[in-house]
Amino acid sequence: MELNKLVVASGNEHKIKEIREIFTGVEIIPMKDLGFDGEINEDGESFLENAVIKAKFIAEKFSVPALADDSGLCVEALGGRPGIFSARYSGGGDKENRALLLKELEGVENRKAYFECGVCLFCPDRIYYLAEGRTYGRILTEESGENGFGYDSLFYSDELKKSFASATAEEKNSVSHRYRALCDLWKQL
Ligand code: IMP
Repeated sequence: MELNKLVVASGNEHKIKEIREIFTGVEIIPMKDLGFDGEINEDGESFLENAVIKAKFIAEKFSVPALADDSGLCVEALGGRPGIFSARYSGGGDKENRALLLKELEGVENRKAYFECGVCLFCPDRIYYLAEGRTYGRILTEESGENGFGYDSLFYSDELKKSFASATAEEKNSVSHRYRALCDLWKQL
């Protein structure tokens, strides 16, 4: 399958930026450029289910191949939370989510966590492709670094030996859950 243009079923500018950096050579078009800026009801029970819901919605609405990423942080000591609820964890924004995570992990020794990403490419002929990626690390006891978004300043990458927010975009994109899921997807196309 040849792809040179892809609509991304997301309003998250950070995700769109990273998808562009990873899928160089493909024109990445945010859904808002097609005139849709609304919320898509993510009521799936896994990252992949939510990715399918989002990609299918945009592919069917605009009759284009659509890519969706559903991702989040899974913390061992919290039984995998916030997981698919990572964006809505505290009921506030990224800053409030990080504050709640630090609070829930106060005094907790086991800081193991991973980011997971499920991606779906949904085509107008209803054929779709799925892929997943993970990256492992630990939750810091205080924020470190200025780059990235979401939980990046609290996530110490086992592979990079620094927080995602202290890493350059190239470094994060070489080991991230999003990079791994998109690479797997690319191989299938
Ligand atoms: P989604 O839009 O429902 O997939 O929400 C994903 C949420 O997970 C984001 O709002 C972030 O809080 C978190 N998240 C996903 N990927 C990353 C990442 O690469 N870095 C930091 N936080 C992330």
